[in-house]
Amino acid sequence: SCKQQLVILGATGSIGLSTLDVVARNQQQFAVFALAAGSNSELMAQLCISHQPRYAVMADDHAASQLSQLLSGSGCKTVVRSGVAAMSELAAHPDVDAVMSAIVGAAGLIPTLSAVAAGKKVLLANKESLVMSGQLFIDKVKQHKATLLPIDSEHNAIFQCLPTALQGSKGDAKLHEHGVSKILLTGSGGPFLTRDIETLKDVTVAQAVAHPNWSMGQKISVDSATMMNKGLEFIEAKWLFNCAAKDIEVVIHPQSIIHSMVQYQDGSVLAQMGNPDMRTPIAHALAYPARIDAGVTPLDFSELADFTFTKPDFARYPNLQLAIAACEAGQGATTTVNAANEVAVNAFLQGQIGFTDIYRINAQTLDNTIDVNVHTLDEILDCDRLARLQATQLIAKVNR
Ligand code: NDP
Ligand code: MG
Repeated sequence: SCKQQLVILGATGSIGLSTLDVVARNQQQFAVFALAAGSNSELMAQLCISHQPRYAVMADDHAASQLSQLLSGSGCKTVVRSGVAAMSELAAHPDVDAVMSAIVGAAGLIPTLSAVAAGKKVLLANKESLVMSGQLFIDKVKQHKATLLPIDSEHNAIFQCLPTALQGSKGDAKLHEHGVSKILLTGSGGPFLTRDIETLKDVTVAQAVAHPNWSMGQKISVDSATMMNKGLEFIEAKWLFNCAAKDIEVVIHPQSIIHSMVQYQDGSVLAQMGNPDMRTPIAHALAYPARIDAGVTPLDFSELADFTFTKPDFARYPNLQLAIAACEAGQGATTTVNAANEVAVNAFLQGQIGFTDIYRINAQTLDNTIDVNVHTLDEILDCDRLARLQATQLIAKVNR
């Protein structure tokens, strides 16, 4: 058929479900080839029954056998598989056109690189994989002529505001040669934009994951509260748009209506706007360069009470400053900070450390373990492992 065949990695998550919603609205154009997830076999069973993918992959054998059991007798013909090798194989399958990379954290790296190495259209939500592997990831995109489309709302906005000549570039075109002077990366500031800084140490998990504008998975919600998310996005922008740290400026825009901007040499600033709903960037990337219905409520400007902008305060958001410093230091630093943060956020979500300990763990891990010689996949994975070990040891020393 002429439908685009999709693999959705992280199908049971926030981005995965939004992707399936957009696909369901545009069934004449897209078909689900495979779904992959971690452990939520009950939700995966429902998704298999409603979307009838050819394959469903769970992270391990236990979850996969649960899924098989749930599907037995349902009449659903989906073939159940397990493990990262199966995810990588299906992401590179010759019948597949596009791969949504929406697993959370470093677990997304290997299957995403597999899609890239097969020259697929890769819709990248999993920013951690690009932060972790930077140059290697971009080199593979070029080498295998993959198409990389950003799903992160800010990067999708920047992509839309760039000159067309740069939109399809494989990360090697220079922004300045096309009249771009700066990328303005916007962020809401999260739930603690105005909270007394002295009380940040008392922040609870429930408070940290309650984002004012966006509904997202737990890890990225905590990252938004610390603004490590903006830090990871800063590094992501550097790789996606082939620019230097000095070309990117972070702007706080609490209403999350502008999703980022591009400033040109002639003084023009282009912004992409919309209600905060991830189905917009997902639909944009799925259909690019065409446009499709995403089910998103259109903006009503008469309803917007405020439209404001400020500079980020690094005393409030030390993780943002740390990530920008890591971006300037190089791959070993960004791989380390990404790994430490994943471990620290997980420990916070488990109640093992406090909210402000996340920064302490990240900063100390970066101090202890920075290795600059990080280029190959083995070196990247070693660096990631070492940082996780360091962060875990530091967490064990935190007294609660
Ligand atoms: P969620 O926590 O909602 O979903 C995570 C998904 O990853 C789930 O489907 C989960 O499966 C799956 N998963 C976890 N571990 C594994 C594994 N080892 N193997 C396979 N699948 C696994 O996260 P989000 O959807 O919010 O975020 C996903 C990614 O998208 C992140 O990288 C995030 O930074 C990025 N992103 C998200 C945005 C958002 O609005 N949510 C915005 C911009 C970027 P299960 O639950 O079954 O275990
Ligand atoms: Mg974002």
